[in-house]
Amino acid sequence: MAHDREVAGLRCTEVLARLSDYLDGDLSPEEVAQVQGHLRGCDWCERFGSQMGEVVGKLRRELATPPDAGPDVARRLMERLDLD
Ligand SMILES: [Zn+2]
Repeated sequence: MAHDREVAGLRCTEVLARLSDYLDGDLSPEEVAQVQGHLRGCDWCERFGSQMGEVVGKLRRELATPPDAGPDVARRLMERLDLD
C-alpha cells in the first residue's frame, strides 16, 4: 500500500492489522499506546481509523438490540406484512 510509514514504532499496515482489536479493546495497554501514538502522528491512519470507528460503532449499535426484542420486532414486521 502507498501509505506505509513508521510512526511511533508501528507501520501503517501494523496499525490497520490491529485496528479491529483496538476497537474491540483487545489490545494490551502498550499496544493501545502505540496505536494511539501512530494515529496522532499519521494523518492517513487517523482519517482511516476514525472512519473505521464510525462504521464499527454503527454496527455495534445495530447489533446491540436486546436479544428478547428480536422475535418481537420480527413478529410485528410479519403482522405488518400480513396487513398489507
Ligand atoms: Zn499510518
